[in-house]
Amino acid sequence: MRTVKGRVDSVVVVGAGLAGLSAALHLRGAGREVTVVERGPGPGGVAGRLEVAGHHLDTGPTVLTMPELLEEALAAVGDRLADRLDLVPLHPAYRAVFADGAALDVHTDAEAMEDAVRRFAGDREAAGYRALREWLTRLYRVERDRFVGANFDAPWDVLGRDFATLVAMGGFRALDPVIARFLRDPRLRRVFTFQSLYAGVAPRQARAAYAVIAYMDTIAGVYFPRGGMHAVPRALAAAAEDAGVVFRYSTEVTGYERKGSRVTAVRTADDRIPCDAVVVTGAPPRRRRTRWSPSAVVAHLTSTATTDDLAHHTISFGERWDETFREIIDDGRLMTDPSLLLTTPTRTDPDLAPPGRHLHYLLAPCPNLESAPLRWDTLARPYAEELVGLLAERKLVPSDAEIGELALTTPDDWARQGHPAGTPFSLAHTVAQTGPFRPGNLPDRDGNVVLAGAATTPGVGIPPVLISGRLAAARLRA
Ligand SMILES: Cc1cc2nc3c(=O)[nH]c(=O)nc-3n(C[C@H](O)[C@H](O)[C@H](O)COP(=O)(O)OP(=O)(O)OC[C@H]3O[C@@H](n4cnc5c(N)ncnc54)[C@H](O)[C@@H]3O)c2cc1C
Repeated sequence: MRTVKGRVDSVVVVGAGLAGLSAALHLRGAGREVTVVERGPGPGGVAGRLEVAGHHLDTGPTVLTMPELLEEALAAVGDRLADRLDLVPLHPAYRAVFADGAALDVHTDAEAMEDAVRRFAGDREAAGYRALREWLTRLYRVERDRFVGANFDAPWDVLGRDFATLVAMGGFRALDPVIARFLRDPRLRRVFTFQSLYAGVAPRQARAAYAVIAYMDTIAGVYFPRGGMHAVPRALAAAAEDAGVVFRYSTEVTGYERKGSRVTAVRTADDRIPCDAVVVTGAPPRRRRTRWSPSAVVAHLTSTATTDDLAHHTISFGERWDETFREIIDDGRLMTDPSLLLTTPTRTDPDLAPPGRHLHYLLAPCPNLESAPLRWDTLARPYAEELVGLLAERKLVPSDAEIGELALTTPDDWARQGHPAGTPFSLAHTVAQTGPFRPGNLPDRDGNVVLAGAATTPGVGIPPVLISGRLAAARLRA
């Protein structure tokens, strides 16, 4: 593996999102002097926090998987997850609700899930689930170190025994038909393929290798940090600070001073910070022919009542699931029969809302601004009302609940926050933008700039960006 040549004693990390925080912890653990420069007032990046009328809103991610990656980052500085966060395992991980009114609780426990599948769709599907679970577990083992957790210097770095195994397992075939080998019921198949949307690709187009995300949430499990998801970056930043990392918030990096191929200092509006190397996170540089992920509208809602039909995470699948992907990815249209993620964190942590109130986070996938320059200034309000209406129609909130809107985020807002094409999900994980084909984290082999975050390897999501921080630190080994 290539590393940055020369001195790497002092490192500036640009951005205190989860990638930057992970990089800072791993670098500090390796003995580097680390300064994190963040333009926002605190840590988190898209994993941010809004306080509205006594409600504590998480602005970005809500589904936390693979907490061992947080443990690993904290362990780098001799810290412990249990001392920093109160993580609640969610049972069920999700509740899937289908257009025909049927619902399935997704359990991470093997027997509980097999029973649930048997009750939902019969013995044959339960056996299919058991076989799928084995396949997903094997897939994760094969991909973990060589594909997801690896630094690539060249495309052929992926070749080897694990690559051959991945090919033999069908990892490069289309995801949907591979899952269909195990499960016949189309509703069940959705539960193990919808995750490709997290990677910005439709299940019909995604490669089966992306089923590794389904391993992470349906088998390894989903967790919720008491206090909300924003507790995660706060905990990482506190541990980093205690370990000697310096944070400069409300400070934007405006440029870099260079000598030859090396950056010698990071410039801010009123200062310069000399350094031996830089880790840059945040929005990716625009490249030609970039395929951006779809975007999302997020509505933060408060209600006076909730129902037992809602789990912490409820996925409400529309009938026309396949068309949904065509609409938001190919046609640049809003979903005509929306599939939604409804997260109700107050089910686990009532303190996130005032007494007698419930907090809901409604995420509706939508086109990014490049595939559809929709007029969100006029569209946002009626669309939010339509989505709230759907919640009542699909009986996800009781008919007598009073629902109020606390905040609304559209692709225009993501664009204003600096996300290209108005999507916070960065480059889609098409084959041409994944693994060794994704922009590498060492763009100049003679330079001292290393990238971390969703736009580089391994990719989008909390687990990948935490890994990206570790991979960036590995490039800066003395
Ligand atoms: C709505 C939404 C829902 C999501 N849901 C999930 C989920 O449920 N589960 C999951 O695993 N993932 C989810 N994700 C994805 C995941 O949250 C992100 O991939 C990840 O948090 C990105 O982290 P990052 O550090 O790469 O980027 P960011 O969080 O964008 O951090 C980059 C930081 O760099 C700072 N910065 C940029 N430029 C500069 C500069 N010039 N000077 C100083 N600072 C700068 C920014 O202010 C920002 O704080 C979701 C994302 C969103 C937006």
